[in-house]
Formats: sequence, structure tokens, C-alpha cells
Amino acid sequence: MSAVKSLLVAALGGALLAAPVAAQSHLRVSPAHPLPGAVVTLTLRDSGGGRDSIVAIRGTMAGEPLHFESARGEHRAIGAVPVDSVASVVAQALVTRASGRVDTLRVAVEIPPLPPPSEQLAVASRFGRPLDAATEARVARENARALAVGRRSHQSPRVWSAPFLRPRASEISSSFGTGRTFNGAVTSRHLGVDFRGAVGEPVRAANAGVVALVDRFFLGGRVVYIDHGAGVVTGYLHLSKVLVAVGDTVTRGQQIGLVGATGRVTGPHLHWNARYGALTVNPLDLVALDW
Ligand SMILES: [Zn+2]
Repeated sequence: MSAVKSLLVAALGGALLAAPVAAQSHLRVSPAHPLPGAVVTLTLRDSGGGRDSIVAIRGTMAGEPLHFESARGEHRAIGAVPVDSVASVVAQALVTRASGRVDTLRVAVEIPPLPPPSEQLAVASRFGRPLDAATEARVARENARALAVGRRSHQSPRVWSAPFLRPRASEISSSFGTGRTFNGAVTSRHLGVDFRGAVGEPVRAANAGVVALVDRFFLGGRVVYIDHGAGVVTGYLHLSKVLVAVGDTVTRGQQIGLVGATGRVTGPHLHWNARYGALTVNPLDLVALDW
């Protein structure tokens, strides 16, 4: 055997011994077939990575950053599916290993469309008429402020550790994603969950968080938005009274306000909504999270 050949054999043998199995990771989305506005769990599993462990994961889904957390060899993050009609959503993770190797993992999820509008709703003519320019501008400003709370939440650490609760124990009168026709003219989607309630009945924080926004909005009436951190925000609308202030830390189940009929409503109830970053999601998906 020539010297060159034996060196080559030694080099190959060395390489095989050092890395008998290349580290590989796998990205999974659960549920596998989420609806528009769904909250999903992304799980990243590593195999054969014992010698080249994961040191960092950066991910995105539908344009929103993902916040992976590691426990017992598994890496998990919450993600969201946009409400507006998209055929598929891509989640992506950049996995950096101790050796410096970077892998890109991608998973595409097919999204079914929401069902067509079915619910007819007559509201007071003040709201049925098109809004004047000034009111339209006010609504746009208020929407932008609520959206900003969602965006900023990506900068806050996750503050909750127990499962999300429903803010009221009462029956749900309108579920998420229902199509609505206002006075037979304007069609919109119901992007929250309505709970029955009489004026003055309690409304509770769905989980631990920091109160990020309290105000009186044209459509939402008296509103409270809570930042739960890592992109998750919940909102409580049409309240008759607010019992917290911006900056307050609230505990899971703490009473934050009273049911009311402020803003654009046909009667007293709680409208509960949620966001992952800028994306509006079904708040009941937070309650269902196995986290
Ligand atoms: Zn509602």
C-alpha cells in the first residue's frame, strides 16, 4: 500500500469513527391540518445529535418569529395560521449546532378555507350605516394600537406556565370565524369568541401576563389587552368596567373587568380575542394547547 493510499484510508476511517451518524433534526406541526386562525405547536426533534448538540434555533411561520424552548431533548414553539384565505403556510427553522453547522428545516401545511358566511346579524343603524371618514380613521387607529400590542409581545418573555383558561364560565354565543352579514350589507368574519353574560358579571384573565392596553374604543367599547409574552396576547372587549391598569401584572383567573355592552354590540356579552404577533387567532386554541 502506498503512503498516499494508507493516509486516505486512515482519514476516511477517522471520519467514520468521529461521526457514525450525522445529526439530523425533524420539524413537525401539530395539529397536522390546522384551520385558518389556528394556534399550532411546532416540535423539533433531534436524532444522532449527541456529539453535535443544538445551540440555537431561529424560526418563522407565516412571517412571525417563533420562540423555541428546549426541554428533555425536545424543542417546542407556538405558531399561528393567518385567518385570511391562504392555501398553505410554511414554517421554517434554522438550527445551529455546536460544530457551527447550520441546517434549514421547512414544513408546509395545507390550510382549508373557512366556511361561507351564514349568520345574519341586525345591529343598531348607527353601526349598520357606513362609518364617516373621521370615525373610520378612529377605528383604524384603534385597530393599529391593538395590533402593535401583538407585535411588541414578541419582545416580552413568556410569563405563563399553566394552561389558558376561558375568561368566563358561561356559554359561547358566537364562535370564531363565523361569517356575518350586517343589515344584509356588510360581510365580515367574527374574529373572536363571544361569551354570554349580564352587565356586571366577572371577566377573568385567561392567563398570567402584563396589561398592555386599556381604553375605550369605538367598536370594542371598554377594552383590556393582556401581553402573555413570546408573541401571545388576549383581548377582552365591550366591558362595563375595567379593574386593571396598563403595566399591571395579572395572575391566571384574576378578575380584570365586568361584562358590559360598550362599543358595537346588540347586547351585553364578552368578546374575547387573541393574537400571535400580528396574526389574529382563535383564543380557544390557546385553551386547548398542550404545553
Ligand atoms: Zn364578538
